[in-house]
Amino acid sequence: MRHDYKNFSTQEINSPGKFRPEKAHLLLITAIAVGLTIGFSLMPNQAGANKKDTITEKQSNIESSLQPAKTQRIIESLSLPDEPQVNSLQLPLTRSADSAEDTSLNWKTVKVKSGDTMAQIFSRLGISASVLHQVINTDKSARKLANIRPGQNIRFQLDEQGALHQLVYQYDIANSLQIKKNSSGFDAETLTKSLDKRIAHSSANITHSLFLAGQSAGLSDNMTMHLANIFGWDIDFALDMRKGDHFTVIYEEIFLDDKKIRDGNILAAEFHNRGKTYRAIRYEDKNGQARYYSPDGMSMRKAFLRSPVEFSRISSRFSLGRKHPILNKIRAHKGVDYAASRGTPIKATGDGKIVFKGNKGGYGKTIIIKHGSAYSTLYAHMRSYNKRSRIGSRVKQGQVIGYIGSTGLATGPHLHFEFRVNGVHRNPLTVRLPKASPLPKKYRADFKTKAKSLVTQLDLIKTNTLASLQ
Ligand SMILES: [Zn+2]
Repeated sequence: MRHDYKNFSTQEINSPGKFRPEKAHLLLITAIAVGLTIGFSLMPNQAGANKKDTITEKQSNIESSLQPAKTQRIIESLSLPDEPQVNSLQLPLTRSADSAEDTSLNWKTVKVKSGDTMAQIFSRLGISASVLHQVINTDKSARKLANIRPGQNIRFQLDEQGALHQLVYQYDIANSLQIKKNSSGFDAETLTKSLDKRIAHSSANITHSLFLAGQSAGLSDNMTMHLANIFGWDIDFALDMRKGDHFTVIYEEIFLDDKKIRDGNILAAEFHNRGKTYRAIRYEDKNGQARYYSPDGMSMRKAFLRSPVEFSRISSRFSLGRKHPILNKIRAHKGVDYAASRGTPIKATGDGKIVFKGNKGGYGKTIIIKHGSAYSTLYAHMRSYNKRSRIGSRVKQGQVIGYIGSTGLATGPHLHFEFRVNGVHRNPLTVRLPKASPLPKKYRADFKTKAKSLVTQLDLIKTNTLASLQ
């Protein structure tokens, strides 16, 4: 059970068509670092040969959204109040000429400082504590004022005597609390700005890494991770990426005042990996539960994850600037090795029960999980176990059971992973996983209708976009 990476890696890396992530990875880390600093939403929109199109269409009218050139803005909710308008950048308000408001009243913007409370702010403005008490007790929504955070702005409108007439507290990007004086006390109202949901699509060929491909296609790293999670039951993103793999994703972007504020959901996606094409369609049932299904209504989730280690964690290995990557598949033995830095979490690939935990010769610290009667998985060379991992305890798919190390006979930190069916070792990368559970019957007809238009879009995008990428 000894793994000599050095010999294997040379061979693996030089095999034709094999994904070579080492150089890409330095770039990726830089990109992530930049992303963390400036926010993922500011990732470059277009680069290289990959392509992103934004189609702004009403979601319910998705079939008509296949002309990327056409743009049409939709308003999801029409709850934007006339008055006052709160600028999303929290700049002082620009009042419109036809404002009915009494302009003899002054507006004052207070920026919340670290450690500030409403009581302190009121006192600085010379407003009495009894008024604050009244304001806070206006309505349940007014309790938001107890959660003010440094850097936020609160706008106060005071009369000539300095008495409070109105205050507006924008507590998130789209919502503000407005407290307004009336004849007897104060009224509270929540003002909500309308968000646009626009549909966009991107396609990319993978030449270095999934993240780089995602970035060049204008996807945020979060979105790329989400995409990988959707297909994580079928594709092992840690080991199985190949040059020439490609994907298409149809997703929502959320806009406020014509500015993108965040990503929405992935509505549909296609991933082509090692000659196989996988498609996923998002479906939200009547209870608001959203899941991804193949176009024939089978769940994308399966009883087992392809990989017990998150691919991004493995990839980060390459950022250390090692001479040769040790991420490689070793076919000569009855398992798969995942090289990653010491301490990387190891996930149970399926629901089950821990039947073994302890030192097991060359395997070092090992956990064996039994999944029903036919399947078992083994995780070896762990540095340490998760506190919750005990013999006999139940684990859920994705639950962290331990951490990567090099106990036993291992030349470096890695996870040795085995998958057994009826006691026989199978290749975890290729074994047929138990069938996915289908969409409940009562949703089938609805799903079929919705899936059809998304599948049509995927087909069209594929024809139009990917052809131009060749
Ligand atoms: Zn191994």
